[in-house]
Amino acid sequence: MKISHLKIIDSHFHFYDYEVFDQIAVAAGYVNSEKSLHQAYEDNNIVHGVVMGNGALEPDEHTYPAYMSYCVGLDRDWIHGDMAHAVALVEENLKRRQCCGVKLYPGYNHVYVSDPVYDPIYELARKYDKPVAIHTGLTATANALLKYSHPLTLDEAAVKFPDVQIVMCHIGNPFLQDAIAVLEKNHNVAVDVSGLLEGKIPDMNAFLKEKRGYINMLRDWFSYLGAYDRVMFGTDWPLANLRDYIAFVKVFIPERYWGDVFFNNANAIYRLGLKGEA
Ligand SMILES: [Zn+2]
Repeated sequence: MKISHLKIIDSHFHFYDYEVFDQIAVAAGYVNSEKSLHQAYEDNNIVHGVVMGNGALEPDEHTYPAYMSYCVGLDRDWIHGDMAHAVALVEENLKRRQCCGVKLYPGYNHVYVSDPVYDPIYELARKYDKPVAIHTGLTATANALLKYSHPLTLDEAAVKFPDVQIVMCHIGNPFLQDAIAVLEKNHNVAVDVSGLLEGKIPDMNAFLKEKRGYINMLRDWFSYLGAYDRVMFGTDWPLANLRDYIAFVKVFIPERYWGDVFFNNANAIYRLGLKGEA
């Protein structure tokens, strides 16, 4: 049963057969499978999803159903391997219609996003006119380093590549203030609001009450920024329950921008070419 008429694109989720994700999915009320995801998407009127890639760079390793696009993800220790080969594989992905961008994980790779090692990746993104999405803020593992995932680091990359579309994933949470400054200054940086919730919220009203200070901060910073054409909905599935996530984002994004934040912006920024929200 559909709970909403709002047509939604999930601009950030993970679709990866990985043991940790299996446990995380259960905590959110799901199974880490395409069937469970598809059902959850249907139930919540989510018509398309953008996979934030993990794992191998080989295009053959990236096969997804038609309701998904993907960003090829550089999540491994790839910079210590054969760089030229890695860059060539990224390009092979970018040539495909279903590949709508690149995902960088600088906190996990221990490299700043402005490091020259990433230059060929930005150049490919420019050549194929597809975004570079970057994990920012808190990391899922303790051996990652926050200095590399801090949102302020995107400022230098955005200035170095002004004609590349960058996506700041997770608003650099919890470094919200710095994230907003980077977004205010650099118009080639968009943001997704994924990764802010985990698991299934047992009582949404109690949750919203308890977290009202944090939620007010989100609302106020987005209002201060005033750039709702660069804000995208994303769930970070299998991390969070989708129904909870939609309810949560609706609390800090004003209703007049829901069409843009939940659908139009991701459609435009990731060049998905889906039929509009109307
Ligand atoms: Zn993610």
